[in-house]
Amino acid sequence: MKQFLFLLGIIGLCLLPVLFEKNAPIAVGIEVHTSLDENRTLEPAMNDALDDVLTFYARSHDIAFNGPLHIIFSQDTQYVTDTYYDLSRPHVSKKDARHFARSHCDADQTISGVITLKVMLLCISPVEDVNNRWIASHRDQIGATLAHEIMHAIQHKFSDESVTGLSARRASGPVWMVEGAANYISRDFQGALTYKDREFERVFYRAQDTTKSIDELSYAPPFERFKHYAISHLAIYLLAERFGAPALFDFWRNLGAGHNWENSFARAFGMQMSDFIEKFETLRRDPKAAKDWILADK
Ligand SMILES: [Zn+2]
Repeated sequence: MKQFLFLLGIIGLCLLPVLFEKNAPIAVGIEVHTSLDENRTLEPAMNDALDDVLTFYARSHDIAFNGPLHIIFSQDTQYVTDTYYDLSRPHVSKKDARHFARSHCDADQTISGVITLKVMLLCISPVEDVNNRWIASHRDQIGATLAHEIMHAIQHKFSDESVTGLSARRASGPVWMVEGAANYISRDFQGALTYKDREFERVFYRAQDTTKSIDELSYAPPFERFKHYAISHLAIYLLAERFGAPALFDFWRNLGAGHNWENSFARAFGMQMSDFIEKFETLRRDPKAAKDWILADK
């Protein structure tokens, strides 16, 4: 009996770290800053949302994302200004921090997500009453936004702006690839890619509202966020469905290895970026041709 209790004690001791693991910080190198949780009642739900996204990246794409990343989760513009300034100085002035906070927190979206190099902002509209019930009912939207922004963090990390010496946005690739891939992976996180035909139709028809070539897209005004994201999403959808999501991630890995956009693209997808952009001008208007192109080698 004594031996049995002893053995039980040993097993218990071995289990302790596993049990504590549940309450340990969800991800190494990711820190959440929030003004929404003074009594810390929301913390488990917020951690769960982040945990879901990180688990998805590890399981579906074999990417263990471990920061460094700060997430500011708030609906208070002043709090965002101060926290963003603290985390980003001396690279960002107080005036720029205020502008950044206002332009994202004053947008009329329920949840607005944005990321600079190591700081992600998830701003919740001030009219929302954020409690556990709110988090539960917006779980899908919070997860999708996190998945989108963490894709940007992965793009920044893989492409390693120090290699190219360009600003993070430029180093990370053309806008259509950066935003299209974030949208595509975010839909994957939501499980939407499983509904193949339905997802194809959704992505295809949402992209019809703009006539601009993906090559012309930039973040400079007039950046028509939803239209431009939609056409970018379609371009990446076609590439990823034909060549596979690993090829997509390879594009950013290639940038990190020091290749320029064009070579990184050619190595990842086996075709020239300019050829794809030209081909895409036909595919974006013709669902049958787009489907055939996806399935060409299958
Ligand atoms: Zn984005």
